[in-house]
Amino acid sequence: MIDLDALTELCGSLGCRITPECPLREYITFKFGGPCRALISINSAQSAAELIKYMKKNSVKYSVIGRGSNIIAADEGFDGVVLLFGSDFANIEVRDDIIKCDAGALLMSACAHAQRAGLSGMENLFGIPGTVGGALYMNAGAYGSEMKDIVISAEYIDANGEIKTAGSENMKFSYRYSIFFDTESIITSVTMRLKKGDPEEIKKAMNECMDKRKAKQPLEYPSAGSTFKRPKGSYASLLIDQCGLKGLSCGGAMVSEKHSGFVINKGCATCADVLELCGKVQQIVKEKTGYQLELEPVILR
Ligand SMILES: Cc1cc2nc3c(=O)[nH]c(=O)nc-3n(C[C@H](O)[C@H](O)[C@H](O)COP(=O)(O)OP(=O)(O)OC[C@H]3O[C@@H](n4cnc5c(N)ncnc54)[C@H](O)[C@@H]3O)c2cc1C
Repeated sequence: MIDLDALTELCGSLGCRITPECPLREYITFKFGGPCRALISINSAQSAAELIKYMKKNSVKYSVIGRGSNIIAADEGFDGVVLLFGSDFANIEVRDDIIKCDAGALLMSACAHAQRAGLSGMENLFGIPGTVGGALYMNAGAYGSEMKDIVISAEYIDANGEIKTAGSENMKFSYRYSIFFDTESIITSVTMRLKKGDPEEIKKAMNECMDKRKAKQPLEYPSAGSTFKRPKGSYASLLIDQCGLKGLSCGGAMVSEKHSGFVINKGCATCADVLELCGKVQQIVKEKTGYQLELEPVILR
């Protein structure tokens, strides 16, 4: 049982906004998902640490979201507290070739800051939705670049609510994976090192990346981006295409006609629709090609 009065009082003393019975669909890009018991908008690392200590002490289940751009939220919602790392905790600082971002800063904003400061290294990441914290967690990447190429360190809160720092050499990065998957740690800030470059060249490269996304991805529909991880030796979209699954639907969920790696929400999809469709795609691809596709988005339930 969550003592909402006590939690509201704690949030008040920390200056964090709290929304009881908050519908998750408003906070994830797929646009479905039931309510969580409370959503708390984090405003500092210290507030997050205090809240985590409280939740540990009182055995309150909690989870973290950034922009919700790689999350599948259950229709029945989340029976716990969601800590939102968003615009209340989104400072970005650029000094020389170093850029330090609060976890709630948008990756796109970090890219824009880098571009204006004439710092190169984030061009290929431009256009990836989500926060810097979420990007580090997922080791987000595109067009041959990944977060691991530029991150030098991160501040995080460990499972005991202590604020710590880790160097990137300890983050065990691999494809869409970082050590944060296997710890209960919560990322509060990320420091990246870039290289000096020409702002106009950087802008051009960023715009090219965005143009490629607009041309290839069904950005007009809610989604969580690529629904399946890239299997070793092939591409999920290629395999799905080869199996003739473009346009396959379950309820309001559909394999995009524009990019078969994306499952899209045609407007009324539920979590159940998306999971049923993904299950069908996985089964058919396995039967026809032998490849086992794995979901990329994280399921919040
Ligand atoms: C249209 C579209 C295109 C996309 N293109 C790409 C792409 O090219 N490349 C790519 O890699 N991804 C892509 N994605 C997926 C997604 O944008 C990235 O994975 C992004 O980095 C997720 O960031 P987020 O803030 O939205 O994280 P969320 O979706 O909110 O969370 C994802 C996971 O990270 C955890 N998390 C988030 N913040 C923190 C934190 N501060 N501390 C600890 N854990 C945290 C969450 O608990 C969850 O497990 C795309 C998504 C969409 C919708």
